[in-house]
Amino acid sequence: MKKRWAGRRLAGYAAVAATCFVLAMLAGWMPQAGEIDNYAYDWMFRWAPVQRSASHSVVVAIDDAALNANGGIRKLRTILTRAIQEASAAKPKAIAVDLILADPGDEGEDSRLEAACKSAPHLVLATDLVRNGWEDPISRLARSAALGHVHSDEVSTDGVTREISLEKTGFGQRRWALALEAARAATGGMITESPSDVQIGSILVPAARREAGRPLRIRYAPPGSRNVIPLGDLKNGAALAELRDKVVFIGVTSLSAARDRAKTPYGGDDISGVEVHAEAFETLLDGHFLVDASNLPVVGFCLLITVTAGLIFSAVPGWTAYALAAMLLAAAHAFPFFLFRNGIVFPYFGPVASAWLAFAGAASYQHFGVRRQLRKSEADRARYQQAIHFVTHEMRTPLTAIQGSSELIGRYNLNDDKRRQIAEMINSESKRLAGMIRTFLDIERLSEGQVELKQELFPSADAVQACAARARPLAERKEIHIELGSLEGTIRGDRELMEYAVYNLLTNAIKYSPPGTAITVWSRAEGGFLRLSVQDQGMGMDAKELRHIFRKFYRTRGAETSGEAGTGIGLSLVDQIVSGHGGRLEVTSKPGSGSCFSIVLPARAPALL
Ligand code: ADP
Repeated sequence: MKKRWAGRRLAGYAAVAATCFVLAMLAGWMPQAGEIDNYAYDWMFRWAPVQRSASHSVVVAIDDAALNANGGIRKLRTILTRAIQEASAAKPKAIAVDLILADPGDEGEDSRLEAACKSAPHLVLATDLVRNGWEDPISRLARSAALGHVHSDEVSTDGVTREISLEKTGFGQRRWALALEAARAATGGMITESPSDVQIGSILVPAARREAGRPLRIRYAPPGSRNVIPLGDLKNGAALAELRDKVVFIGVTSLSAARDRAKTPYGGDDISGVEVHAEAFETLLDGHFLVDASNLPVVGFCLLITVTAGLIFSAVPGWTAYALAAMLLAAAHAFPFFLFRNGIVFPYFGPVASAWLAFAGAASYQHFGVRRQLRKSEADRARYQQAIHFVTHEMRTPLTAIQGSSELIGRYNLNDDKRRQIAEMINSESKRLAGMIRTFLDIERLSEGQVELKQELFPSADAVQACAARARPLAERKEIHIELGSLEGTIRGDRELMEYAVYNLLTNAIKYSPPGTAITVWSRAEGGFLRLSVQDQGMGMDAKELRHIFRKFYRTRGAETSGEAGTGIGLSLVDQIVSGHGGRLEVTSKPGSGSCFSIVLPARAPALL
């Protein structure tokens, strides 16, 4: 019984856990989940800011001051020419320009710019994919440069640029990102690729090809630790020296002139597009990457968390379960942070939602399960008390007889015959009382597995006849006829307990049958068994009731309304006695057409024959 309940409980927890898991997975697909993941991602950046051992680039910023001092945005090409010339003089490894130079400008300006481009060490110019094609630089400029795309089209609702695509394809042409081209120029390596990564020289970049290109998460250095030099400062020799052997990114940072501005996960002020490209470049050269965890481990982890929460509540009692579950919750919250430090971007929402849902689901299931059990055990206790009342009531009959008889002896002068008769009665009634007490004690001990069954050999006919004789007065009162069929076989076991069992089946048959019916008892050997059956023509039971009748204190509705006294423990004791003898109790019954209870004992050891 206990096992069955434990199985049911476990199945209940499994169902709760499965529901929670499915709900968490469904919630994980909602767009809000992505926003929460992004929020957590940014938080992780602030919590564990990127630290780089060396910097490989410098941003030369065409800022408001540079524009104002040199004739404004209309003189951008002249300003750029000066920037390239000054930067080239500092002997950098390469120069990357984040400016779209697709339209021809003033002839003089363009030819000066062309000359500057030609004399630059390694030059990478920007191109962008727009609706009607690539915005490549005019050919006289493009001739002396590599082209890198500066397209950043990450769709983030909060405007934070967390990744760029290393490649962009359109109008029959594929272009690498400006940062990647700059890295190629800086390392002098070749770019080779496979579907899962891109390699520049010795650096393997885990940027698998997806629908939107090859996304690379940018590991931004925290604000304030980026190398940005205003163009105006290049006059200063010390600032100029910083450009040596670095890759110089030139771009407009002026708020009024630059159209490309981005937010970083650190929050704070927006940064210009050229800084985003420089950070992407630093990410590439640094060699430490943030890679998204694939779906399978994420789903696996969520499942693990859900199953663990279910197991905790199903196996651990009380507050310990809550404490363990709190630890599990903490682990689910901390795990993505731990992985982030190790370069893996793990979704935050899914595991956390699984953990909370499983916690709430399993805890409520436990709470209500425990409450239900409590209610059940309270009901059992009430019935147990009823049973005690009933037992004490039963004991009153012999006690009253003893009391009355002893009073007779004391009060009246009785002749010897009468005295002997009364003494015999007192003796037999006190034996009956002792027998009742012994039986109840035996049965209690039997249910705790403490009693040693006697091993007597007796014909089943003897036991049945003795029980029938005791039950007859009861039957006669209801005009019920007890018929004994053929009584074969010998029983090995505890005769007193076995008789208790048969007597119980007989009295039940009498109690739950209408007057004028018959009860038949027979026993016969069947294969390796001895079957002893008590058949009545009484109220019977339906299949649902049959499942419960061996439970202590259970009574059917029919029994409750029949007016027959009962405790609902008799059958559970009969069941224990029979299984204590290595046998089983079988019952077939139908409402309105009687029941047949059979004690089936094995013909060989330990019980019979
Ligand atoms: P009780 O003291 O109520 O008779 P038992 O444990 O002996 O307790 O029986 C449990 C319940 O099984 C009874 O209350 C009754 O509902 C049902 N039952 C037992 N024997 C019969 C029978 N022969 N016919 C119909 N119902 C029966």
